[in-house]
Amino acid sequence: MNMMTNLLINGELVPGAGDAVTVSNPSTGAPICDIASADGEQVEAAVRAAKEAFPAFAATTPAERAGLLHALANRLEAELDDFAALESLDSGKPLAAAKDEVGACVDLFRFMAGAARCMGGPLAGEYVAGYTSMIRRDPVGVVASISPWNYPLMMVAWKLGPPLATGCTTVLKPSEITPLTTLKLAGILADIYPAGVINILHGTGPSTGDKLINHPDIEFISLTGSIRTASRVLEAASKTIKHTHLELGGKAPVIVFDDADTDALVEALRGFSFYNAGQDCTQPCRLYVADPLYERVVADLAGAISSIRTGEPGDADVEMGPIITPAQYERIGGILGRARDSAHLEIVTGGGAIEGQGQFYQPTLIAGARQGDEVIRDEIFGPVVTVSRFSDVDEAVAWANDTPYGLASSVWTRDVSRAMRTVARLRYGITWVNTHLVGTSEMPHGGMKSSGYGKDMSMYALEDYTVPRHIMIAH
Ligand code: NAD
Repeated sequence: MNMMTNLLINGELVPGAGDAVTVSNPSTGAPICDIASADGEQVEAAVRAAKEAFPAFAATTPAERAGLLHALANRLEAELDDFAALESLDSGKPLAAAKDEVGACVDLFRFMAGAARCMGGPLAGEYVAGYTSMIRRDPVGVVASISPWNYPLMMVAWKLGPPLATGCTTVLKPSEITPLTTLKLAGILADIYPAGVINILHGTGPSTGDKLINHPDIEFISLTGSIRTASRVLEAASKTIKHTHLELGGKAPVIVFDDADTDALVEALRGFSFYNAGQDCTQPCRLYVADPLYERVVADLAGAISSIRTGEPGDADVEMGPIITPAQYERIGGILGRARDSAHLEIVTGGGAIEGQGQFYQPTLIAGARQGDEVIRDEIFGPVVTVSRFSDVDEAVAWANDTPYGLASSVWTRDVSRAMRTVARLRYGITWVNTHLVGTSEMPHGGMKSSGYGKDMSMYALEDYTVPRHIMIAH
């Protein structure tokens, strides 16, 4: 497989000058390659290049930026199969899923190309007699972007689309665990974009990432990652008042009313709760089921998920891959062990590792979960779903809202009025009705509460990467 391991700094593809980081195959644990990370001077050079490129790129027309984004989308589409194979190798996700995700990146860049030319705003006018006011929206400046491992290329696309559409310049560091598709994309970006507009680094969070977010010339930090890393970002931002954009964890509740279509629910959760082995910030993982349907949902869901096929991602039949790292595997194992030891939790199906495979867990359903339980409160980020019973809608809504997270949620009922009343009471950035996890480039993705703020995708992302400026002319 064609592996690219260079960084992109000021238009040049160069090897890292820092410590090597080993990239491993999560299905087997075997090393794929060692990639030298950026050292301090390379971080410095990347930020300098982005700063120097900013005035000219900010002055490009929306049509010029749209043309570049279309070129990027076309190149990525032409190499979709290669990117998907590399993504699957690096992250362990089934090849079909990797293809869908690279396709979603192509769509996102095409959406951003159109959106770059469609930004709107209030009318210019004489709001004070004798003066004309108008609004400009200008790019926020030099951006540091930090992305996670669970959707490696898709998160990078979400991070690059808006600045490329609005005229910001960027230094991006992908997760050191899954850098391969981003480093491959660097080769395409180097062909298309002027030097310095996008710079791609590689390295660990505490080393390369920390230097990047603390650089005084960075004006905006965009992170998709954990709450712990978001605290580091906010500390860094506080020193020079950098703007921040944070997409963090989740613990999505699923409220199932007594008139829900349980067949549709079970089919959807079999797919969505175990997509990416549950390593998804919007994973439907906390079911609250109305008393009359509870036993049936538990039985049907257990039956459905026990048939999920796990294994190496290249196998066409495989639906669920491995856990990303040994550390995550251990962490999830600890949570499952404590759940097994609990006096009131019932492991209905799964609950342990799959013997004979690498870092794989069985798709797991835990019944009888209570609000104080670790499995309800903490983001597991694995193939684990809990189910709890409710008899009163107020109780269900209160439980659904009772976590620090606020990213995604869903409501299942055939009654539109009941759905809309419940939607209004949920405190989540995204609420689906009778589905879950379906996204589209036109609609925003982002959270409330400790899940962060700022929106990815949609026109709202373009607003986040621009600043509205009031221009007033005295007559
Ligand atoms: P993480 O916070 O450990 O790492 C994310 C990125 O931050 C990586 O690139 C890492 O190298 C970097 N990083 C770590 N420490 C840093 C530091 N001190 N300074 C600068 N950079 C640093 O998160 P992860 O384990 O890669 O990703 C999983 C998390 O991401 C989960 O909590 C998940 O819910 C969240 N996530 C959220 C969304 C969303 O859209 N809200 C999407 C995907 C993942």
